[in-house]
Amino acid sequence: KDPQEEPSDDKPLFGSTGRKIIYDKDGKPCRSCNTLLDFKMAGGSLMGALSTKKPSLAKDSVPETYKQEPPDVEQLGKSTWTFLHSVAATYPESPSPSQQDDMRQFMNIFGKIYPCWFCAKDFQKWSSKNEPKVKTQEEFGRWLCDAHNEVNAKLGKPKFDCNLWKQRWKDGWDE
Ligand code: FAD
Repeated sequence: KDPQEEPSDDKPLFGSTGRKIIYDKDGKPCRSCNTLLDFKMAGGSLMGALSTKKPSLAKDSVPETYKQEPPDVEQLGKSTWTFLHSVAATYPESPSPSQQDDMRQFMNIFGKIYPCWFCAKDFQKWSSKNEPKVKTQEEFGRWLCDAHNEVNAKLGKPKFDCNLWKQRWKDGWDE
């Protein structure tokens, strides 16, 4: 199996959040596939990069803003959805054939490189059955909303009303 989903030794199968812990093929917990809590529980080192890899770097010389953890599955997800829905919000209302091609290719490549590999696998599976709809901005925005709702359902989160995608990601609510 590649990457591996089951740890080979005595590593925990489930994290304290109750979710299955995802391991990379080298047997280490996958940082971008787990919550930070589960990653820590599975033995992921938090200070690895700062404390061991660069012993010559005086800690005080590192700006405070650098000292943040790499993203876990939730932070990565939220940032990525923000990016993707914002891309939909600025996609042309009537894209040219070449802009439609670009978007199709982009979503295809996105599905291959998304850092949480098990999320990417499910996304690829879904989008192979639900090809990206890229003929208009409205169509693409709704397709993306459906894709996001698929993940919401998988995680037991409420479905978002896709009639409101444009208010959420483009126009605002303007009360
Ligand atoms: P998010 O789901 O990140 O949503 C951010 C905001 O988007 C919400 O506050 C809401 O205002 C808005 N929103 C919600 N739903 C929709 C919608 N349908 N359309 C438009 N706007 C909406 N996490 C996992 O644990 N397992 C997975 O398999 C997994 N797969 C993912 C696949 C992809 C392609 C991506 C991008 C992320 C995936 N994630 C996965 C992360 C997960 O979807 C969430 O991003 C993460 O759990 C954080 O959720 P959140 O509650 O902060 O809100």
